[in-house]
Amino acid sequence: MAKRDYYEVLGVDKNATEKDIKIAYRKLAMKYHPDKNKESDAEEKFKEVNEAYEILSDSQKRQQYDEYGHDAFDPNRTAGFGDFGFGGFSDFFGDIFGGSKRSRSSNYPEDGNDYKMEYTISFIDSILGTEIKRKFEKYSTCSHCQGTGAESFNDISTCSTCNGSGTMTQVIRTPFGSIQNSKTCSTCKGKGKQVTKLCHLCQGKGLMKEAKELTVSIPAGIKDGQSIVLNGYGGPGKNGGMNGDLYIEINVREHKHYIRTGDDIHLTVPVSITDIIAENEIDIPTPYGIEKLKMNNSYKSGDILTIKNKGAKNPKNPNIKGNMKVHIQLNVPKLSKNEQKELIKILNSTNDEIKRKWLKDFE
Ligand SMILES: [Zn+2]
Ligand SMILES: [Zn+2]
Repeated sequence: MAKRDYYEVLGVDKNATEKDIKIAYRKLAMKYHPDKNKESDAEEKFKEVNEAYEILSDSQKRQQYDEYGHDAFDPNRTAGFGDFGFGGFSDFFGDIFGGSKRSRSSNYPEDGNDYKMEYTISFIDSILGTEIKRKFEKYSTCSHCQGTGAESFNDISTCSTCNGSGTMTQVIRTPFGSIQNSKTCSTCKGKGKQVTKLCHLCQGKGLMKEAKELTVSIPAGIKDGQSIVLNGYGGPGKNGGMNGDLYIEINVREHKHYIRTGDDIHLTVPVSITDIIAENEIDIPTPYGIEKLKMNNSYKSGDILTIKNKGAKNPKNPNIKGNMKVHIQLNVPKLSKNEQKELIKILNSTNDEIKRKWLKDFE
């Protein structure tokens, strides 16, 4: 059967980025993983997807493939490129499927998983910016064994089960003949080596976890749901691979009065009828301090006034700032009986032009 194009296998186009390829791969690998997918061709497809990923995720191999197609990796034609075992992807699966039975280890460098945590801040802190000061755990290679997991180099020996190859060959008999199946060595998990005495510092893990005190700054204007990335603070890389990253997702607590839409901050302000009639200057509390706003006797409940540049900073461009939107809510102060009488007297003697005009519309 002719081999399908690797890009076609992963469903990405020729210009796909590394990230596109990784995302497409994860999706398909999950779909066809034989532990999850019981269809008869799942394993075939799974292998095909893995093979495509191994080539396209490696910039050098990808270049070779773009130039020569499948021939670049045909062991009969080119020496040196034919070596693709199954092993390289498997730790990845261990991670996705939580230590699946099919998980196989290898000596390929592999990057660690990204981690995610959530962190809640107040509304005001989201507008003004703040800091997280705390300890974050970071993985590093064990300083004693340099990641081998062995107490000394003399405590590493060739695996006796597989003689160092990392794989075991299994012959499966089927009605159509025998099939040779290459299986990862269960003793050394594909590494080809065994540790006879574990490193005292890391107990054989090859890793150390260190808590580092950090001050992480949260920029002014950050929005609910946005993340801050701490590079290298994710899961440990394997065999010299890079650590994953830590994504800190910021949750912004709701404020009792302020509401953010886009970069604007809305605030409903109770304004006394006196301030409106007298056209007083009133105090508007903004996250940056008190602003004065002059009233006008034409203002009515529901009117929205703008105070420029007192909104939130734009998370993408801190030079852009939103506005403060003041929603006027007219209120009549509590009056004594006598005050009420006097007010009614005054209002009765005035001509309510607005109401008279409005009523005309219904005639
Ligand atoms: Zn160690
Ligand atoms: Zn072995």
